[in-house]
Amino acid sequence: MNAERQQAREEDALLRELDTLLADPAHAADPLRAPLAELLALYRQQHERIERLVRISDGYHGMSRLHSDSLADKFDRQVRRLEKLARISDMYQSNLRELTEALREASFKDPLTELGNRRYLMERLREEYERSRRKELPLCVAILDVDHFKRINDAHGHDVGDEALRRVADALRHAIRQYDTVGRWGGEEFLILFPETRIDEALHTAERVRTAIGAIHIESPDGGTTFPLSASLGITERQPDEAVLLAVTRADNALLAAKRAGRDRSVVL
Ligand code: GH3
Ligand code: MG
Ligand code: MG
Repeated sequence: MNAERQQAREEDALLRELDTLLADPAHAADPLRAPLAELLALYRQQHERIERLVRISDGYHGMSRLHSDSLADKFDRQVRRLEKLARISDMYQSNLRELTEALREASFKDPLTELGNRRYLMERLREEYERSRRKELPLCVAILDVDHFKRINDAHGHDVGDEALRRVADALRHAIRQYDTVGRWGGEEFLILFPETRIDEALHTAERVRTAIGAIHIESPDGGTTFPLSASLGITERQPDEAVLLAVTRADNALLAAKRAGRDRSVVL
């Protein structure tokens, strides 16, 4: 490109020099002047023609590019753009779905024990109640409350209290049967649902849970010493045509009776 420009500059200079020479009256009589002037004019005409041809050719190339950029090409490009947008939108939607699912899960989970929370339990209670009513199946409910839990917090601190709750949750998870449901009802209280279960079988599982909690030994933060846990449970079976929350209230009353009777026991009402 630079060489071309250099050449054009030299050509311009030469033409200007020729113009000056031809215009100089000193050379007016020179016999070479007329043929040189004619040659110069011819050269300029030729030059102009070449330039015109280059312009036309450039235009033609531009037009041919425009033509080959046919409707089909434009369509293809548009489709590719839409596909890309669809991919982004799919990704966005699946992220959104995952996020919604994670939020839903979190809204049903107790972060401390990773058990279902009260909201989760309310849903399960409603579901199991409906099922037991429709299919005329028995349904039992138990409420468990850790004994003297306040003392644990007071004597060893809130963190140790939290650890005790996690250990109780683990014991519950392992001691219940596959189809039972357990969740954190609130504070140091847990609710267990026993679908398709009669009261004697529910009591049997409740006692297994209580034994498992009795086997827990929590280490106090000063190290070395450990202390045991115990829990009280109130258990009941849903009566025919009884709303499930009434059964929950009765389980609560049974729990109160267990506390009054001296704790570390299961009471059926
Ligand atoms: P009872 O045998 O009659 O059940 O006595 P309690 O001390 O267990 O009962 P109370 O209801 O007086 O105390 C429950 C305590 O549980 C009070 C509260 O500070 C504590 N608590 C509730 N939730 C948590 C928690 O998430 N972490 C800890 N560390 N403590 C909790
Ligand atoms: Mg309590
Ligand atoms: Mg308690």
